[in-house]
Order: sequence, then C-alpha cells, then structure tokens
Amino acid sequence: MKNETCCHTSSPCNGERRGVLKAALGIAALGMTGGAAFLGSAGVAHAAALTRAERDRMTPGQIVERLKQGNERFRTGRMQQHDYLAQKRASADGQYPAAVILSCIDSRAPAEIILDAGIADTFNARVAGNVANDDLIGSLEFACAVAGAKVVLVMGHTACRAIKGAIDGAELGSLTGLLDRIEPAVAATRYSGERTAKNEDFVNAVARTNVLLTIEKIRNDSAVLAALEQEGKIKLVGSIYHLVGGRVEFLA
Ligand SMILES: [Zn+2]
Repeated sequence: MKNETCCHTSSPCNGERRGVLKAALGIAALGMTGGAAFLGSAGVAHAAALTRAERDRMTPGQIVERLKQGNERFRTGRMQQHDYLAQKRASADGQYPAAVILSCIDSRAPAEIILDAGIADTFNARVAGNVANDDLIGSLEFACAVAGAKVVLVMGHTACRAIKGAIDGAELGSLTGLLDRIEPAVAATRYSGERTAKNEDFVNAVARTNVLLTIEKIRNDSAVLAALEQEGKIKLVGSIYHLVGGRVEFLA
C-alpha cells in the first residue's frame, strides 16, 4: 500500500484544477492504492478501490471496454471476488470513479453487480425509466466535471415497468410526471406491430429509443458535458441490460 497524489505522476499535474474543485467540495485529494476491481485483472482475488492514477491513465474508450469485460464476467459467472471492506477502507479518503451510470431503479438491474464493479468504481444514478432531468444531469456533471469520471453510461433494460407504464399512459401521483418524460420515446419508436405494453418486443424497442433520447437530452441540456464530449474527455454511451441472459448490450 502506498499513498498517491496527482503530483507523484511524471506527467504535468493537469489534475490541479480538479483537485482545487475537489478540495472546495470537501473531497480529499489523497487515495490509497491497491489492485482495483474495475481493472479486472485476471487472478485478482481481492480487488481494492480504483486509484486516481489508475483512473486517470485510462481513456474513455478503455473504460467502456472495462465495463464490457465486467459484464462478461458477470454474465458467465466469473465475477471477481470483491473485498468490499478493503474497497471501503481504500476509498474512504478519496474516490476516483471511472464512470457514471444512469440506470433504472428495477431491482433486477443493479448496475454495479451486473458490471462486476466494486465500491468507488462508478457513480450511480437510478431513476425509474432512466430518464434525465435537471437534478440527474447535475449529478452527471458533478461526476464528470468535478470528480473526473470519463464515461456516462445510460442503461435501460428489457421488460421495464416504467416503459410499460408510459405506453399505457398510467397515472399515479408524482409517477405521472416521470412517465411523461418517457412519452416522447413511445411516440418516436417506429414499430409496425402491436404498440401495447403487452407486446414485449415493442416495450424493448421503446426502451432502446428512450436510452438514445436520454443521451440526446443530456447533450442538449448540459453545455458542460457536451463540451467535455467534444474535447474527447468523456464518452456518452447507451446500453440495454437483458434480464434474460444477463448481457449488457452497448448501443452504437
Ligand atoms: Zn425499469
């Protein structure tokens, strides 16, 4: 175990501004190293938390690959043996997550588990139907622009009840307004078969449209994230988790 700060790296300290922001937000600049779960090295039995150096040297594209590899381990039953207590200890004084995931609240689609990620590997925002609003976009901005995450992964899933509710025009308290956010995806989905919530194929087609429209909304509503994406510093990626089979399908 050893301490690391950004200034121990041989490259110029381009994390300085981020460090100032972190300090302003009360996020410690120090982290402890260890074998990071997120890196997914074969044979790592007790993986610890991602360090700043490990996170910072990965490109957005490499991080997407790590997410894909994590899901592959989950899908095939070869998950890493997470030492959550070690990850907790290693990340208590600082966190350097590689990605932020916006996914549904569905109990069957826990993002960190299905991507075989550990404590402090990813920020996670969950809301029924993985929609975006100002609060969620603000959370994504914090994750990327302040805390240094390099991938925004929007993850829908098959057989989503929120999508079904939007198709049916369901109304219930505050849920009504949330489902209204999914309505544009229902309208925009080209589908020649039965356009009902009973048709799973249509439900899944709407879920896919909803992911793509959510990404579009994030780009349109967040000048911060759009600029980071244009500079190549982050990637916005869509995906669908298949409840049957366990695959996270990454959308182009
Ligand atoms: Zn759902």
